[in-house]
Amino acid sequence: MALPLSTLRGRFRGELSDSAAERARASADASFVLGRAEAVAWPNDVDDVVTLVLWAREHRVPLTARGGGTSLDGESVPLHGGVVVDFARWTDVAPVDPVVGTVRVGPGVVNRALHDQLTPSGRFFPPNPGSWRSCSIGGNLATNASGPRSFRYGSTRRWVHSADVVLGTGERVTLGPSTAKRSLGPDLLDLVVGSEGTLGLVTSVTLRLATLPARRTGVVVPVGAIEPLAPLVVDLASRPSLRISAVEYVDARVAEALRQRPGARLPGTGPLVLLEVESDGEESEGRALEELDATLRKLAVSEPASVVADADRLWTLRGEAGAILDGASGRRIREDVAVPVRLVDRLLSDLRRISVDFGVELYVYGHLGQGNLHPNVVVDPESPKGTAVRRAIYDVAASLGGTVSGEHGVGSRKREFVPRELGPVGVRLLRGWKSLCDPDGILNPGKLLPDLGPATPSRGPSPSAGAVARTPPE
Ligand SMILES: Cc1cc2nc3c(=O)[nH]c(=O)nc-3n(C[C@H](O)[C@H](O)[C@H](O)COP(=O)(O)OP(=O)(O)OC[C@H]3O[C@@H](n4cnc5c(N)ncnc54)[C@H](O)[C@@H]3O)c2cc1C
Repeated sequence: MALPLSTLRGRFRGELSDSAAERARASADASFVLGRAEAVAWPNDVDDVVTLVLWAREHRVPLTARGGGTSLDGESVPLHGGVVVDFARWTDVAPVDPVVGTVRVGPGVVNRALHDQLTPSGRFFPPNPGSWRSCSIGGNLATNASGPRSFRYGSTRRWVHSADVVLGTGERVTLGPSTAKRSLGPDLLDLVVGSEGTLGLVTSVTLRLATLPARRTGVVVPVGAIEPLAPLVVDLASRPSLRISAVEYVDARVAEALRQRPGARLPGTGPLVLLEVESDGEESEGRALEELDATLRKLAVSEPASVVADADRLWTLRGEAGAILDGASGRRIREDVAVPVRLVDRLLSDLRRISVDFGVELYVYGHLGQGNLHPNVVVDPESPKGTAVRRAIYDVAASLGGTVSGEHGVGSRKREFVPRELGPVGVRLLRGWKSLCDPDGILNPGKLLPDLGPATPSRGPSPSAGAVARTPPE
């Protein structure tokens, strides 16, 4: 059945498009999952978002929120058709609240652009995904994204103070306090972080900010000779005086590809560990680097580390790993498993065994300091062999007490594995919350949990939509 867009046009004041070009753009993200956008909507304001949701409930039309469209597991792909709600134009950034240390932003503001805008205030939003030049704060919230600096600062969840959300009922709600602190009740905001647009559409986010250190220095450590790597992480983590904020890993093949980038100047010939060291100025930077050097020598790192004065340059380079592999190998598995840090070497060796058993090429990089690695395996992810490889990777993560997703989210790809991780009680609680927030299952159907509400809302009048009409949004 065609979308009843004519019934929306009179009520919706934003822009709507069902052009082939816009539909094609909104049907894909950075994964190899393809969806079927029937139209794209750019709401003008929150009233427009409410209008969209009420219309979608009335006609049982799926709505899929979209920020930067950089998801890697089909999170922002409209699997069951319907309208893609594009928040990329919602880029307002309010002045920093210097007392509480927060900033209120539109969900569409790009992570790196926000970083640049905040720098003069001496504060920053720490999570810096490899995609930070194109991913949005709304997408970061909805996937609980993290990045290299999450070793010290944690993932997005820790930095979201409050959010305005339009639920799948059409109701508006502010989750989180307007005060610096609040002890009232369980944290409802926490349930929306990482919910991949399945519970509500986020229209505004207030972020907590950290104090920007005077210096953030990158250090590149060739580590060919020092596997196992877990003792290195444990040693570095147990030396707070070093003020290390990131511990990243790239295997020998990824390192070699990065060395070829113009201006890369990376040392060594094998795998690399990339670090970020924070300091208050030249003198304390010098002391930290000396202590780091002594620590690395003790750990038998024989080749000298090299220093990159601007750590952000290193993270931008490291973020190119995925794009380099896109060019070199095309369709492939790009996984995101995480295990307890002490078991990261077992994860690495099991990944190598999988690569040999299945006869497939393996590239590994990721957030070593958090036990979160991205095995990239050159095989069509949708082929039977690709499916078997993915299953083997998830089984290894599960056997080590890990997770199928350290940071990218679940999307459509990994949802069948979620019950194993959450258990039946966890799934029941999540389903209860979903049915309260989105009773018709119109928000991003086919994502996050199997059988979470109706997988495909069937087009036509909603039996429960009348309840919304009687419960006007606040
Ligand atoms: C090269 C590359 C490197 C990457 N590196 C990292 C990394 O280091 N760490 C990491 O965590 N991830 C990484 N990612 C994955 C991805 O960038 C993150 O998941 C990011 O948070 C997605 O943001 P986005 O704005 O692109 O969201 P989208 O892809 O547009 O959407 C992601 C999810 O959020 C939902 N959503 C978006 N906006 C809203 C809203 N306003 N309200 C409700 N729901 C919303 C969407 O429906 C979808 O479910 C990488 C991706 C690429 C391509």
